Amino acid sequence: MDIIFDLIEKERQRQSHGLELIASENFVSENVMKAMGSVLTNKYAEGYPGKRYYGGCEVVDEVETLAINRAKELFGVDYVNVQPHSGSQANAAVYLAVLKAGDKIMGMDLSMGGHLTHGSGVNFSGIQYQVVSYGVQKETGLIDYDQMREVALRERPKMLIAGFSAYSRDLDYAKFREVADEIGATLWADIAHPAGLVAKGLLNSPFEHCHVVTTTTHKTLRGPRGGMIMMGKDFENTYGHKTPKGETKMMSQVLDGAVFPGIQGGPLEHVIAGKAVAFGEALDGQFEIYAKQVKANAQALSKAMTDRGFDIVSGGTDNHLMLVDLRNKNVNGKETEKALVLADITCNKNMVPFDDKSPFTTSGIRLGTAAITTRGLKENDMDTIAGLISEVVDNIKNEEVITSVRKKVNELMEGRALFNY
Ligand code: PLP
Repeated sequence: MDIIFDLIEKERQRQSHGLELIASENFVSENVMKAMGSVLTNKYAEGYPGKRYYGGCEVVDEVETLAINRAKELFGVDYVNVQPHSGSQANAAVYLAVLKAGDKIMGMDLSMGGHLTHGSGVNFSGIQYQVVSYGVQKETGLIDYDQMREVALRERPKMLIAGFSAYSRDLDYAKFREVADEIGATLWADIAHPAGLVAKGLLNSPFEHCHVVTTTTHKTLRGPRGGMIMMGKDFENTYGHKTPKGETKMMSQVLDGAVFPGIQGGPLEHVIAGKAVAFGEALDGQFEIYAKQVKANAQALSKAMTDRGFDIVSGGTDNHLMLVDLRNKNVNGKETEKALVLADITCNKNMVPFDDKSPFTTSGIRLGTAAITTRGLKENDMDTIAGLISEVVDNIKNEEVITSVRKKVNELMEGRALFNY
């Protein structure tokens, strides 16, 4: 047997025994996994259902159409493209559809909670486009909407991005739209993180206000690793949409063309099948219970951490994640992440707003509850988890304490299946 399968088993053990607090991760169902490991991976299917560049696509046409229809129902939208290989690919397609190279964009600063694809200088978005950004207020940790409007009116970006990777509060999409309309900009929401909560109406809906919405499918949505593009309520009606090349097209055509042949070749139909399975699961009432528990767990964890003297940026959370500012504990994000990993607790070091440390060291960690909720943990377990994190942070160089915490973590996770539904 190929050694790779030993490594897969090793990883399965690691995932089973540990506490997964990485905010962008989750555990997919056995059926999602089955779809991804299926013969669909053998098929080339460039194009879209009914309009392919290869023969033999009758079955994958049905697969992709199911994925599209389930996503439309789940989010209540009229347009979906399920082909992006990842969240970054979905975002790249939006840029290609809406802008010309050199145009100006405005997103949340990476160091304040934004994503690489929202204009970071090391990403294509910051290399190909001019970037201005908004951030959070120092005192509150909340988005400074007044500063955002002021910069937008002055700089007049062509596209405004509402989205984040490390912000624990809901977004005011109506306010973003007001500003976008004032300057005639396209408003794009990237709901990669909270998509599962948005789908169940547990957070504000971007679809009423945003022209275009992208997401990943593997975070709170609990599907396979991938991306997706949707359209807001009124974007298709902006017909007469002028492409960057000056042609007039329907927006749905422009977005489809930006994904294929714009930035991708053949779609991953096995992953699209996994997306269809996950969307089917998310349409089920059980997923609503799950999504509510994700939120309840995040609030309980944030409170339990605060009770132990941890400083949670913005003082709490509305979604599935929180940023912990470790400066009052005299440890940095890098050493905390490392010590927690030794205790079988995984999370990631993360910059906090107005951080004085580099992205490699950081003053914070980011915690999320999507994955542990899938493993069946509830509010009362969050107090235990905060206690375990606190023990490690207070004894960051003490191997004995870390080993004893690891034992407690393994006991907590014992008998909790990876596939829970
Ligand atoms: N957008 C946001 C807001 C994200 O947080 C992420 C991933 O963390 C992405 C896009 C990119 O997704 P992917 O890693 O699938 O490219």
